[in-house]
Amino acid sequence: MGFKEIKKFNEVLLTKQVWRMMHNLDSLCFRVFKARFFPNCSILDAKDSNSDSYAWKSILGARDVIKKGMVWRIGNGQSIWIKEDKWLPVKLSRSTGEFRTSNAYKLLAASASIERASAPNQANQSTFWKRLWKMQRRHIVESDVCELCKSDPEDALHALCFCSHVAPVWLAHQWFQSMISPPPLNFYDLLNKFMQVGDELRPEMFATITWSVWNRRNALHFGREALPIAKISVVACALLHDFINSQIPEAPLFRRAVRHQWLPPEQGFVKVNFDAALFKHTNSAGLGVIVRDWRGANLGALSVPAMLSSTVADMEALACLRAVQFAAELDLYRVIFESDSATIISAVSQGTSKLSSFGNIVDDVRHLLPSFSSVIFSHVNRSGNIVADVLAKKASSIVGCHIWMEALPLDIAEVVNFDVH
Ligand SMILES: [Zn+2]
Repeated sequence: MGFKEIKKFNEVLLTKQVWRMMHNLDSLCFRVFKARFFPNCSILDAKDSNSDSYAWKSILGARDVIKKGMVWRIGNGQSIWIKEDKWLPVKLSRSTGEFRTSNAYKLLAASASIERASAPNQANQSTFWKRLWKMQRRHIVESDVCELCKSDPEDALHALCFCSHVAPVWLAHQWFQSMISPPPLNFYDLLNKFMQVGDELRPEMFATITWSVWNRRNALHFGREALPIAKISVVACALLHDFINSQIPEAPLFRRAVRHQWLPPEQGFVKVNFDAALFKHTNSAGLGVIVRDWRGANLGALSVPAMLSSTVADMEALACLRAVQFAAELDLYRVIFESDSATIISAVSQGTSKLSSFGNIVDDVRHLLPSFSSVIFSHVNRSGNIVADVLAKKASSIVGCHIWMEALPLDIAEVVNFDVH
């Protein structure tokens, strides 16, 4: 056995260890590495740190080997969060015509490799064209001209994005337009750009739409019934929405800590603070909600007058319901709901309030929770919930529901600044 083989053998052993680690999330080894090197993401997304740890660098190397051989296997789609978990190196099964993320992935990977093969200045370029030429002579491909527009050669970028028959699909999507300036060199380049976008489901949207466009192209090619081009976007969005909704949400977690200062959520989460205020002199009440990201930036604030109920807890429960509705309306997925009402936070997270006056409101709140992929309920001291409190009080001076998506009124912005600094 030569030296090279020993090195490879070691790599294989290490890779096997990393594979085990990825599937035994409770192991001490996994937890130690997670806490130290990738507390906020999966091992697949962990970045090289400045650490000198030889073990960690070796693990990252082995992780990259695993990544190369990895595809998504979705199964019935019920237990997988789209960006995390349960990856198996499997042969892809034949398409059954149903939406499978694995197929979308397969398409993208295949397109990317064709693009790489056809990219200029590649050593294998001539091999690629020779093979294509052979195919043409065998009448497998009559011509490389796109069948839809009959004007340009059909490569992946043309077929999926820029063909004049396909371009209308993308016109409506501002996020797509911003990705094609400057113009991508090839499909692989464009795909890569999307893979860099971490949030707002952009890579998933891009994959689902291109998958739908590709299916439509094949349906037309083989004379099958095809979706009208104007419906592609809507159908693709619905597929993605169904897929996300089919994920079983994690059970809501309950956090209780005596904190006096508002803390931003960890990256990838948003925090929704809510509160109620009672205006006894006018026999009315107000509800306040504020949504902030990990930088403390406002993603949406709400102030709304409400009817005064019999107990403070009832009003706090209503504020909670409004907060959860607001978060659902904003299409948020990973959310921490936070309030200074320990009663409501524990009732909602544990579902033990059937006989209380606010039991039905808590039921309504819990009914909405499956629309989030991850939910945490957190209790904080009053001083950590000041913005929601001020928003609730503001309801005494306004008529109807007020929502501020970015810029906040001065009085509220001042309190937010107090929170963040
Ligand atoms: Zn075309």
